[in-house]
Amino acid sequence: MTNPPPKRLGLFGGTFNPIHYGHLRSGEEVVEALSLDRLWFIPAAVPPHKSPPEITPFEVRLEMTRLAVEDNPRAEVSDVEGRRPGKSYSIETVRLLRRELGQTWELYFILGLDAILEISTWKDFRELFSLCHFVVLDRPGYDRRQLEEVLRGEVNPYFQPLAEGGGFQHPSGYRVLVVSTSLMDISATLIRSLVRAGRSIRYLLPEAVRGYIIKNKLYL
Ligand code: ATP
Repeated sequence: MTNPPPKRLGLFGGTFNPIHYGHLRSGEEVVEALSLDRLWFIPAAVPPHKSPPEITPFEVRLEMTRLAVEDNPRAEVSDVEGRRPGKSYSIETVRLLRRELGQTWELYFILGLDAILEISTWKDFRELFSLCHFVVLDRPGYDRRQLEEVLRGEVNPYFQPLAEGGGFQHPSGYRVLVVSTSLMDISATLIRSLVRAGRSIRYLLPEAVRGYIIKNKLYL
């Protein structure tokens, strides 16, 4: 008997301080575009690129992320990065999930264009591209054309463009797919600064998360 085809799991990592509709809507659109079976939001316990004073405790960000997806049957929140000490390096998470999930699941690592353009600052970034597929989300103010420059220049010169500008293929066979999602100019920075200024954050993130922020007096 032949094995069933692997299922597709999206991994959406971030600081999620807080999670907002920019993350949620683009995650939803990626699930549809690539027929993902599941989508995991993975808050970073100790984000390697953000300085501690501006970071809300991991448990708080985890809880807000849970509230944001509780009514979505395909989405889950993983606390995997809170279960190991030190900085939350994506390479360690992907290696671990590859080991734990085996061949049953094909992994799609989702990140914004702003984030992948800085990939060379990530730990063991070259190896990441030989462990899973990548899905790149457009973000306002960032130029897609720079992606090829970064991938071929800093990651691997043998990346091959896919047909119709859909992305690039790594020599390992894994792909970096560029998915056009609704461009939402929302960031967690914007939300935090609106709260601090006493302004409304309604409609930028789920009501449950907004209520949690107000109740717990976050970002004041
Ligand atoms: P901050 O403003 O605090 O830097 P952020 O809003 O960019 O935060 P992160 O948690 O740092 O959110 O982002 C996690 C991932 O989600 C990153 O890969 C980032 O590029 C992506 N992302 C964030 N906001 C959006 C958005 N509006 N549309 C698409 N992708 C997004």
